[in-house]
Amino acid sequence: MNLDFTAEELAFRDEVRAWIKQAYDSELKQLMSQSKNGYLDKAGQVRWQKKLAEKGWAAPGWPVQYGGPDWTPTQRYLFQSETAAAGCPIVSPMGIAMVAYVIMEYGSEAQKRRFLPKILSTDECWCQGYSEPGSGSDLASLQMSAVRDGDHYVLNGSKIWTTHAQWADWIFCLVRTSRDAKAQSGISFLLADMRTPGISIRPLPSLDGPIDGEQEVNQLFFENVRVPVENRIGEEGLGWTYAKYLLQFERGVAYGSLLRYLLAKIRKIAKQQPAGGGGMLIDDPDFRRRYAELAVRVEAVDAAEMRFFSGVESGTAVGAMSSLFKLVGTELQQDLSELAVEALGPDALPFVQDSFAEIRGRPASPRPIPDHVAAVTPLYFNYRKTSIYAGTNEIQRNLLARHVLSSAGVRG
Ligand SMILES: Cc1cc2nc3c(=O)[nH]c(=O)nc-3n(C[C@H](O)[C@H](O)[C@H](O)COP(=O)(O)OP(=O)(O)OC[C@H]3O[C@@H](n4cnc5c(N)ncnc54)[C@H](O)[C@@H]3O)c2cc1C
Repeated sequence: MNLDFTAEELAFRDEVRAWIKQAYDSELKQLMSQSKNGYLDKAGQVRWQKKLAEKGWAAPGWPVQYGGPDWTPTQRYLFQSETAAAGCPIVSPMGIAMVAYVIMEYGSEAQKRRFLPKILSTDECWCQGYSEPGSGSDLASLQMSAVRDGDHYVLNGSKIWTTHAQWADWIFCLVRTSRDAKAQSGISFLLADMRTPGISIRPLPSLDGPIDGEQEVNQLFFENVRVPVENRIGEEGLGWTYAKYLLQFERGVAYGSLLRYLLAKIRKIAKQQPAGGGGMLIDDPDFRRRYAELAVRVEAVDAAEMRFFSGVESGTAVGAMSSLFKLVGTELQQDLSELAVEALGPDALPFVQDSFAEIRGRPASPRPIPDHVAAVTPLYFNYRKTSIYAGTNEIQRNLLARHVLSSAGVRG
């Protein structure tokens, strides 16, 4: 393993750095300073993704034939490190990093022509309809029915926790097309236009509070929703196979560079916050010890990811590593966001006051929030979810245990 970058890789890093300097403009930066989770609102998101698409960098993992840049895993790592270090917006994954891969692998030629270009250009935004009120970890128990009626399926049921469904033009969903077979074999994978009559959206309030009216998760209701059969991916009853294929992309995110950005944010806070016994927090021994412990863990994740990407370049399969990175990456996200709030002390409170003002029946006090404080507490609340979505961390532990035990020849 060689973790040094080559001269070409360093030149590529400089090219990315120079592009970010001109493309990540002051308007986007201003929007990002208020972001509670690294994502922008829909207009900002589309603006940023279109800039990436014009440069040919919107879909780092896509093959060239569909408009990808044909980067090596190391180039992808460098690109993510540079965009994260500059605090650039996170690209919404549901289209580009999730359903697109299923369409490429299992979709018909007509579906590839119809959907992939608009995903790449962000002319169509997507949401993910997997979970249901009674089916999360045990996803195969899902109940939303799709009954064949001529050239259409008729959908009835409900999906829940659907992230940014209010912005989506399309949804990819798992539906039950048969109740006769084993649970998994009765599932199909459908693409539905969100404007189809019969789909309604109910926003779910969350503790990180709506900033500028943005809410993150929703419940969807489907009442006699007619979806053309031509919008089914692959074969009827094989949806579970396609869904599992997609999950490895959902969990295969690199965490190191984003965690480094959070560390930098905490350092910035600590330089501006007074410590209890005088001086600034950055000089406080107890704070320094906690910060150093987290920084060492971040270094370990980053090094492991680099080693992993270097292996992928020479043919190592992704395998159970996506579960491992999801587990350690999200635990660190939570621990870092906790230290950030603690570092702010009472200055973390203005956000909490604002978010509950409406419930208390009186308007929020218009207290100015300094830049280094904005969005820190919303991020803390927002990150409580990271150990839940994309398969809870308990489920990831089960998967890892199964993988380790089966490699050791132990049967489950
Ligand atoms: C903010 C957020 C956004 C989301 N966005 C989307 C989205 O866009 N689209 C979508 O389809 N879904 C989305 N989800 C849903 C997410 O995938 C589910 O919440 C998750 O899979 C867990 O399912 P559940 O909520 O039903 O919890 P449950 O499955 O009921 O789990 C409850 C608890 O029991 C534990 N548990 C369950 N089974 C086991 C087991 N076998 N072994 C050990 N422990 C177990 C779990 O780990 C958890 O701690 C989102 C969730 C959140 C919180």
